[in-house]
Amino acid sequence: MVYRAEYIWIDGQQPTAKLRSKTKIVPDADAPPIWGFDGSSTEQAPGESSDCVLRPVRIVSDPIRGGEDKLVLCEVLNTDMTPHESNTRAYCADVAEQYASHEPLFGIEQEYTFFKDGRPHGWPAGGFPAPQGGYYCGVGADEIWGRDVVEHHTEACIAAGLTLSGTNAEVMIGQWEFQIGPGDALLVSDEVWLARWLLYRIAEDYDISAHLMPKPVSGDWNGAGAHTNFSTSEMRESYDAIIAACEALGKKADTHIKQYGAGIEQRLTGLHETAPWTEYSYGVSDRGASVRIPWQVARDGKGYIEDRRPNANMDPYVVTALITDTVCADAEG
Ligand code: ADP
Ligand code: MN
Ligand code: MN
Ligand code: MN
Repeated sequence: MVYRAEYIWIDGQQPTAKLRSKTKIVPDADAPPIWGFDGSSTEQAPGESSDCVLRPVRIVSDPIRGGEDKLVLCEVLNTDMTPHESNTRAYCADVAEQYASHEPLFGIEQEYTFFKDGRPHGWPAGGFPAPQGGYYCGVGADEIWGRDVVEHHTEACIAAGLTLSGTNAEVMIGQWEFQIGPGDALLVSDEVWLARWLLYRIAEDYDISAHLMPKPVSGDWNGAGAHTNFSTSEMRESYDAIIAACEALGKKADTHIKQYGAGIEQRLTGLHETAPWTEYSYGVSDRGASVRIPWQVARDGKGYIEDRRPNANMDPYVVTALITDTVCADAEG
């Protein structure tokens, strides 16, 4: 007998990479093997030397096909088995290994926007809905669009064994969020990519497309981010380590902003629950700061911080690696 393995990988599109996938039929007795694809069709290789290698890095059950079928997240290698230049996971793995003694944990809040018929789902043709205010965590047919897709996606993530920790409707109509974590950098990043793939794939069956654009509607409408919650073993024990992490992130603010997702200037304006991208700040309970210290963390004197800057379209391998590197290198002096 055989099973179907859906090989999923990240392409070379700039400035924001896209997910790709294809199906391999594998004998029941075999683990998903190394495979390949045409890199000239994914902006990962020139036509005259087009082969790229897919190496499985995380395998989960396929909640859509069911049975013995699998989703196989892969990293992309060159034919000499070195990481392809588009392979940011390899960089994340190096940084995670270097600072493993700090036991970094991440929780990522992935916001996204549903589109139907060429406009955000729930928006009237050629006009605007009532201004935002009532939609966040709303209920009712005049406030909520796409809940059927969200529920289906939630069931799929749970069935696949992902560390999904919650979902909510967002501030703009048609905008939603799911949270992955907490877990280590590679686990959470792999699972954010897998959960994104499941979202696109499931929404397909509803004739809806999900997008990660950071500012889908300009003007007085919230953008879409990927707040990244972070702690080390030291931060989970001491408030001094929490403050030291906030200060360390401030020293490298420009480096981080540049790698937190394309179009970040459009989203981090200083309005709509953001801090301006040009100014770094942190504060307790402050949703207008770059980095928020949750109130329970200030009360308990330990815990985690929330970096509110990453865009919805960020690469979690890059963001978790940068935060780990900046905070842990600073802690080591
Ligand atoms: P918000 O109030 O910002 O909407 P959410 O509930 O959406 O918060 O997300 C909080 C995130 O914080 C979750 O993804 C959770 O996994 C993560 N988290 C909780 N504790 C920790 C911790 N100690 N280290 C890192 N992340 C954590
Ligand atoms: Mn949230
Ligand atoms: Mn949110
Ligand atoms: Mn948040």
